[in-house]
Amino acid sequence: MTANKIYSASVSGLEATLVEVEADQGGGEFGRISLVGLPGPSTNEAQERVRSAIKNSGYVFPRRKITVNLAPADIRKQGSQHDLAIALSILGLKNSSVFSGRHFFILGELSLSGEVKAVKKIFPLVAAAVREGCTEIFLPAENVEEISIFKKIKIFPITSLKQIADYVFKGCFLAGQVGLGPSSVETQDHEAVWQKIRGQNRAKRAAEISLAGGHHFLMVGPPGSGKTMIAQAMGQCLPPNSLNQALEIANIKSICGLPVKNDGDFFFGLFRAVHHSSSGPALLGGGKSLRPGEITLSHHGLLFLDELPQFATQTINALRQPMEKESIFLAHAEESCFFPCSFTLIATANPCPCGFWGESQHVCRCRPKQLAAYRRKIPGPVLDRFDLCLPVHYPEKIQTASYCPSAKNIWRARKTQEKRGFLNGRCPDNLLSVIALFGEKEKDFFLSAAENLHCSERGKIKILKIARTIADLAGEKEISVPHLAEAFSLRSDDTICYN
Ligand SMILES: [Zn+2]
Repeated sequence: MTANKIYSASVSGLEATLVEVEADQGGGEFGRISLVGLPGPSTNEAQERVRSAIKNSGYVFPRRKITVNLAPADIRKQGSQHDLAIALSILGLKNSSVFSGRHFFILGELSLSGEVKAVKKIFPLVAAAVREGCTEIFLPAENVEEISIFKKIKIFPITSLKQIADYVFKGCFLAGQVGLGPSSVETQDHEAVWQKIRGQNRAKRAAEISLAGGHHFLMVGPPGSGKTMIAQAMGQCLPPNSLNQALEIANIKSICGLPVKNDGDFFFGLFRAVHHSSSGPALLGGGKSLRPGEITLSHHGLLFLDELPQFATQTINALRQPMEKESIFLAHAEESCFFPCSFTLIATANPCPCGFWGESQHVCRCRPKQLAAYRRKIPGPVLDRFDLCLPVHYPEKIQTASYCPSAKNIWRARKTQEKRGFLNGRCPDNLLSVIALFGEKEKDFFLSAAENLHCSERGKIKILKIARTIADLAGEKEISVPHLAEAFSLRSDDTICYN
């Protein structure tokens, strides 16, 4: 009869590794458990919990010295999720399993009485098991909902050590359920969200383009002009991601202790609004045990920085690389890792320290020196990353028809880009020819308009990316003159928008 193998898993960075748990007995020091294989402090405490839990579950604790090996030995094991696997491997020394050659992937923290408690960071742990081909997973009942997203696996919810021990050693019945797979997602109507915002048709159209193509978007305008409302509306109208992207987001949420729900929201990235008083590590990630920051939490979603010039210059500067590379490298002591951060940045700024520069109804009292110092707060290389940089003025007294971004068109544009493999806002310069498809007439229009408007080379690239998204929103294969004309019309106003 071949022995069973018992596995748990341990997280490092954003990924987990399978851990094989094996117990042996021999020598003196009755009842002592010696854990080997680089257990971290929280894993090491398992000794006390496991001994009490076994006794309180009606099983006999072996009267020998116990050694439990957690392999592979070169990876530090963090967390309390190994308790249940350790307990089961120890029980296997005295009791023979009714199963032969089976692989048990078990996660769970034990209380002294033998109850199984929920495990943190469950998503990456189970993802590792699925990746390694485990088809049966035993885990705390409280964690089941979070991982019902995984299809083709059988989940056994466990509430106590006795329950799983009775199953393995006595052949008692244990109910399992099959993973449901992610729930489907349907187009939503977001009209009401946009109708709340008076006027601002140009900014709403820019918001639609930003959402559709993942273009970083900066709104510059006086206080109370509706910039924040537009950003928040964008947060409510995020387009859905692909399944792989959604799984990445779920993984990050689980690592950060946020609930992962298998509902309609599963496919959507997060909208993270960050206050300017936030520290560098809170925004970028880091800390003692390398935690993802807000830029990683808004992976495939929106990162909203209200009043960008109020952030520490160092923090604003640090954003440049993640905006460009879509990942950030973090290191601390012996740990180092890359965290993904493919976010769309939505930022707002006042045009000057008092906020009224360029507004006909108000008087700006800022001195030229103050104005220049204020505008230097967003450095050129960061400004350069914003494809859309738009002035937002107070709405006109006379109301015109209100523009409403179309969720249907945004979702369709996203799908088109998914097939190309990247969002237009993230298109590398060397792949511009893949997205910028147009004829001779359009080319002439583009070149002469760019010359008349004194566009820089970077400016031209931004226009092409925006025009591509406008064409994708319209469901058209080639960029036409009206698409280019609209992209030029949304081009940042040099005087009010810093660059
Ligand atoms: Zn002013």
